Amino acid sequence: MADLLVVGSVALDSVSTPFGKAREVLGGSATYFSYAASFFTNVRLVATVGEDFPAEHIALLKDRGIDTTGLQVSRGRTFRWVGEYGYDLNEAKTLDTQLNVFADFKPMLPGALKKSPFLFLANIAPELQLDVLRQMDRPLLAALDTMNFWIQGKREALLRVLSEVDVLLINESEARQLAREPNLIKAARAVLKLGPRTVVVKRGEYGAVMVSNGHFFFVPAYPLESVFDPTGAGDTFAGGFMGYIAAQGVVDQPTVRRAIVYGSVMASFTVEDFSLNRLKTLQPDEVERRYAAFQDLVRFDI
Ligand code: AMP
Repeated sequence: MADLLVVGSVALDSVSTPFGKAREVLGGSATYFSYAASFFTNVRLVATVGEDFPAEHIALLKDRGIDTTGLQVSRGRTFRWVGEYGYDLNEAKTLDTQLNVFADFKPMLPGALKKSPFLFLANIAPELQLDVLRQMDRPLLAALDTMNFWIQGKREALLRVLSEVDVLLINESEARQLAREPNLIKAARAVLKLGPRTVVVKRGEYGAVMVSNGHFFFVPAYPLESVFDPTGAGDTFAGGFMGYIAAQGVVDQPTVRRAIVYGSVMASFTVEDFSLNRLKTLQPDEVERRYAAFQDLVRFDI
């Protein structure tokens, strides 16, 4: 089992879906990621929160064994995101993004954290992602996620960090936007030319696609009857994906393919409730049962 370092947002989210509302609840890309990854491996979190961040949220992460020595409490307010979903739950509409303490966060990684062999640059400002990547001893695998907010607002910085990572995990619409190409397969191939060796495109209820030189792989999403709040699905997917790879300690095709299924399994739990509520009660045997159900789901040569 190898260490996995993540940098990304730790947030207070206000979300409304057709099925309910949640105000100022625990969220953030690095939060969902680290919580999901903690089911598989040792996770180290690098982020910042404001003085208004409830102590119980930090306790929740620590209780999962997540190393929070890189989680800095800064003067000011915690990052906030306000979003809404219509009946098409695949697309979040951002109503407000307040960077707050992230606006001038400059992490200084302690020596031990720099040596983590697996790195995930979760969705946050690309300059911050690059800053963390540059401080690391070259990891075995560096992966990155991003979103429309940064593709539009910080394209140059994003292209720079993208040229230095091994894997990009990205939403379908954001892959198209980044590549400026409407066809998903062409978009994924165009993104490969920007640097990463592997691109994993998350397609919400339609599953996920992986494209890398010489490989193409597709999985459906786990078919759920009750999707309550899709917030964090992408980050949870990434947490399952990277957590599984770090636990195996190798990055070969069989491992990457199984990691995509574990990512899909973890994401399928997150969307069953608001915030991290479903993950909080999740047991490892439930993860394994859903993984086994996935194998049945896609077996056609019977
Ligand atoms: P997703 O997995 O794509 O649903 O990510 C949702 C999470 O991303 C929410 O918990 C938000 O707090 C966080 N988020 C939203 N916008 C940003 C942003 N611009 N930078 C970093 N994190 C964000």
